[in-house]
Amino acid sequence: MMMRNKLLGLALVASLTAAFSGSAVAAGVSANDLINDAKTGGDVTTYGMGYGQQRFSKLNQINRGNVKKLVPKWNLSLDSNQPQSQQPLLIDGVLYLPTVNATLAVDAITGKQLWKTPLDLPEDVYNAVCCGNHNRGLAAVDGLLFRTVIDASIIALDMKTGKQVWKTAVEDYKQGYSLTVAPLIADGVLISGISGGEYGIRGFIDGYDPKTGSRLWRKFTTAAPGEPGGDTWPGDTYKRGGGSTWITGSYDPELNLVYWGTGNGGPWNPAFRGGASMDNKYISSVLALRPKTGELVWHYQFSPNDAYDYDGVNENVLADIKVGGKVRKAMIHADRNGFFYVIDRTNGELIAANKFVDRVDWAKGIDLKTGRPIDSEMTARHRKTLVMEKADEVWPSALGGKNWSPMAYNPDSNTAFVNTLNFGMAYRTVEQEWKRGTFYIGMDFTGFVFDSKQPRGYLQAIDPISGKNKWRVPLAIPQFAGVMATKGGLVFTGAMTGEFIAYDDQTGKKLWEFQTGSGLVSMPITWEKDGKQYVTVTSGTGGVYALYSGDERLKNVPTGSSIWTFALPN
Ligand code: CA
Ligand code: CA
Repeated sequence: MMMRNKLLGLALVASLTAAFSGSAVAAGVSANDLINDAKTGGDVTTYGMGYGQQRFSKLNQINRGNVKKLVPKWNLSLDSNQPQSQQPLLIDGVLYLPTVNATLAVDAITGKQLWKTPLDLPEDVYNAVCCGNHNRGLAAVDGLLFRTVIDASIIALDMKTGKQVWKTAVEDYKQGYSLTVAPLIADGVLISGISGGEYGIRGFIDGYDPKTGSRLWRKFTTAAPGEPGGDTWPGDTYKRGGGSTWITGSYDPELNLVYWGTGNGGPWNPAFRGGASMDNKYISSVLALRPKTGELVWHYQFSPNDAYDYDGVNENVLADIKVGGKVRKAMIHADRNGFFYVIDRTNGELIAANKFVDRVDWAKGIDLKTGRPIDSEMTARHRKTLVMEKADEVWPSALGGKNWSPMAYNPDSNTAFVNTLNFGMAYRTVEQEWKRGTFYIGMDFTGFVFDSKQPRGYLQAIDPISGKNKWRVPLAIPQFAGVMATKGGLVFTGAMTGEFIAYDDQTGKKLWEFQTGSGLVSMPITWEKDGKQYVTVTSGTGGVYALYSGDERLKNVPTGSSIWTFALPN
């Protein structure tokens, strides 16, 4: 075994040497390229289009004035009927992207596939995948690409050839663990989360050596007895307490802190986890960690004792915001629980928390002094009722006031652009025993509740401090794609019915759209090569989100997948 590792190490050194020996195509991405991603328009080297995950590009060649002329340059089939919920990377003229069954490199100008490496997956792997088979993206550094695999493993590939360099099993998929998150390279460490919050897992965040795949640290997201927060779980409930970590953290290299969100408690039934007197640290929270060691520096819990599957995993966007005449190093976060948070990212102090959707039934507000939500009468009752006689209507639903698909933030105008959801759910807690690898929520979930007089979602331009809308666009069918903003005054996102859309960032007016042939649930990017700006997006819903938005019209949307690149005509 030792010998094999040594040989592998030598092979790796050899391939890196080849990669850096002055060939025509410069290889890869340095640690500095990752730090500078948001500052540079050309390449997209990180998930989030920058460590701060603003999804904002400084490029403005495509702008309000000319976006109506945008046309497709090429289109490539991804040969998959699964949801395409990834963000590609663009490095030295090559697009890299994962699908759920392969990893691809594509010439970004011509659309020609350079390599494609299929995944080798066990057939029973899909038994414990709650919400569709997804993969959200890649990380890259020093000639290697990194991705997670649905069988709860991480692999590293050679960027030039697509050949697998190492594979590490993170956990046993037969226990309900899976992986969909895009990993993060921060301070030389490869960081990944875990999925499985609906299967009674114990969540964690891991740090790995990017060169070898060996694990450096693990930070559990439910606290054991004797640890700080260990007294917030009754008995041994922390062992199946959830706290999955399935959306990529953001990173502030100056403060050297990674901000990673944690998911719902397991099971969803809050009374099972002790109710109002038990916060269940550290579920539905953001954790600020040292990337080298996994040390927890501070945390903030969005939904203590989370009663409604309000996973706190949504992206944490780093933004320097003027508050009372002083610029604060802030982090902004639109939680599934319906509140828009502004937090001091140096120490976790809550600066603002306001409702960003019309109807929030579970809490009356967030107390800025204590940082805690103020339960409604209904929620207080739910927290102490292990088995409910009949269902209540709860808004927002378990999908949240905003689902996982990330917002964009324009730092020039201090505006967040967010696809939001406007519906509730029928909620009734029941008792449930845990069985290995099966759905474990302690809930009789009978579906979503819509208001026939209201749109089911909006695209909203939100002021982070007040949570108020600058504008909002009502949507009959809610949007589940990520949002991207540009210095060209544009906001890009996509519809479940297949349209890739550009809006005016000042007014929300639709300026351009293109029918991609399947629904969009992915994250667009924009990039530049030889002085020309391009926009790239993947298309393909896999049908999963049709269920989420409950709209009959979506049954007719094709599930086939492809990747599109657009540019202005020459
Ligand atoms: Ca860049
Ligand atoms: Ca969940």
